[in-house]
Amino acid sequence: MVWGRMGGRRPFCYDCPSVLKLDFLVIFDLHCHSTASDGVLTPAALVARAHAQGVDVLSLTDHDDLRGQADAARAAQALGLRYVAGVEVSVTWSGHTLHVVGLGVDPDHPELLAGLKANRAGRAERARQMSEALARLGMPGALEGAYAFAVNKELIGRTHFARFLVEEGYVKDVKTVFKKYLVKGKPGYVHHDWASLSQAVAWIHAAGGQAVLAHPGRCSFGREKMRALLTEFRKLGGEAIEVVTGSHTSEQVPLYAELADEFGLYASCGSDFHAPGEGGRELGRLMPLPSICRPLWDTW
Ligand code: AMP
Ligand code: MN
Ligand code: MN
Ligand code: MN
Repeated sequence: MVWGRMGGRRPFCYDCPSVLKLDFLVIFDLHCHSTASDGVLTPAALVARAHAQGVDVLSLTDHDDLRGQADAARAAQALGLRYVAGVEVSVTWSGHTLHVVGLGVDPDHPELLAGLKANRAGRAERARQMSEALARLGMPGALEGAYAFAVNKELIGRTHFARFLVEEGYVKDVKTVFKKYLVKGKPGYVHHDWASLSQAVAWIHAAGGQAVLAHPGRCSFGREKMRALLTEFRKLGGEAIEVVTGSHTSEQVPLYAELADEFGLYASCGSDFHAPGEGGRELGRLMPLPSICRPLWDTW
């Protein structure tokens, strides 16, 4: 079931719009992006949109950067929305890129800030190499073009390149750019070594936060590799995995609910919203966690 609200505040069920949502059902969205990384709304505009979509508890989790946190927290307070400081840390594990969300972090913690800064440091050179690869494929000018889309220049990333290629008319939409050019194995992809999994979890914990493995279904791992990842994550003290996310199909949700249960991990949920009309999930449009899950917010 997917829950929403009519006219901004009136809750209803999308699958069955005649069913009104119970008023005590609290909508959590604990993963989304602003112009501090690869989203298109400022932190304040993002919070306003979340509020209009009926979100009750929000975390802005920009990639490798905390500069949007103060504005987001202020905007949330003004609207009466509960706000949880967050971040999405890029990680390289066993040669693959993973994302670990930190929730409830102190956005001024020096160890976390230093770790994120180190993660951001390689992005400029990686962007230059992506641009060269795209030029070789007959799409010149991507470096300047991508930077024009990046409000936070330190956070230049693949989504900014994708938006440029769509704007130039090379590809019809952002999703297709990734599929054709920007994912591992495709000709515009450039490998990058991010933080290790243990570093990411340690930085998040040092800052008083909880570590959540983001959209595990996006890892194209077989069963054994996913179990190895969850075993290691658990050993490092990771608290939760995203069970309901904009990246999971309705078949993946029960699968990761069971894995969370088996590995003794809490469950989290988030839309991973980036931009209106870009094909991703809208803020707050998430199905409830399956009943076998222990929600991470039960620990708050
Ligand atoms: P980066 O941090 O530069 O490697 O970019 C990662 C971001 O690219 C993710 O957070 C998503 O916003 C976006 N992304 C990755 N894979 C896809 C995909 N298949 N379709 C659309 N966006 C994607
Ligand atoms: Mn992103
Ligand atoms: Mn992610
Ligand atoms: Mn994300």
